[in-house]
Amino acid sequence: MAEIIDGKAVAAEIVAKVGAYTASIAATVTPGLATVLVGEDPASQVYVASKSRMAKECGFHSVQHTLPADVSQAELTALVEQLNADPAIHGILVQLPLPGTTLSERETIAAIAPEKDVDGLHDINIGRLASGRIEEAFVPCTPKGCMVLIDKVHPEGISGLNAVVIGRSNLVGRPIAALLQHANATVTVAHSRTRDLPALCAKADILIAAIGRPQMVQGDWIKPGATVIDVGINRIPAPEKGEGKTRLVGDVDFAAAKNVAGAITPVPGGVGPMTIAMLMANTLTSACRAAGVDQPQF
Ligand code: NDP
Repeated sequence: MAEIIDGKAVAAEIVAKVGAYTASIAATVTPGLATVLVGEDPASQVYVASKSRMAKECGFHSVQHTLPADVSQAELTALVEQLNADPAIHGILVQLPLPGTTLSERETIAAIAPEKDVDGLHDINIGRLASGRIEEAFVPCTPKGCMVLIDKVHPEGISGLNAVVIGRSNLVGRPIAALLQHANATVTVAHSRTRDLPALCAKADILIAAIGRPQMVQGDWIKPGATVIDVGINRIPAPEKGEGKTRLVGDVDFAAAKNVAGAITPVPGGVGPMTIAMLMANTLTSACRAAGVDQPQF
């Protein structure tokens, strides 16, 4: 029976560390996080509200800008540029996806100053990560959170282990693969064209599922004792809870996988809580860089 990796507890530890460090540098700098929400998508509203709330809990200066769904690209870019120039702001987060068809995510992210891009989505930060200059980069929050969880299971490091990442998105799969490689794992990236995925997964000491397909990874794909990190968040019908009810599941068949894996993240309560915690960590790092004070390690 696998160790169940408690992402909620690890995230709480990180948030407590961010809060304590923020208090300790209060005489020099207060980290500032600006969130930008465009439109009224309910899920985006919930995400932005929880990021703003967490920033306040950490003792940050937190501001939220809400723009109407029909805002022009020029107005959105102007707001980003205003935040770039504001010395009280160290992190800028534009909630994605942007609504409608006229706004460009690429153009918007490109407008964010790389040193305030705490989501790690700007080409400069992607390039730094890809070329192994991680200390200078901002690493996207979900991949960074996955690595913290892997470190908990493998405090001795993962050098030489086989890692398989299923998924190659810019937000999750690609950056996780870069981080695993940086940590000296031997990395294979699988995707929708990969042949014989079960056979590939069977070689993985560390298996990352970032697919977006509910419970796709089967228990008998997993190498006995492997560390399984399930990034997927999928909502499926749950008629057992009542008519029209739903529940969240990952990309891994958790019930079967936990009997084979050595350690596994649950959904919910695994990778999910780590994402916001790492956003706080990145914002604190940005403030420390700007103020020239030592950065805590996460
Ligand atoms: P994307 O849809 O951008 O990428 C999915 C990837 O999975 C693609 O690379 C795709 O391959 C691959 N894929 C799709 N179907 C298959 C298949 N049958 N076999 C093998 N590979 C396949 O999703 P994201 O990376 O943005 O997100 C992945 C999951 O993680 C989602 O469930 C999302 O909700 C969740 N997520 C969770 C977060 C958290 O905080 N925990 C944060 C962000 C995402 P190809 O490139 O060939 O199309």
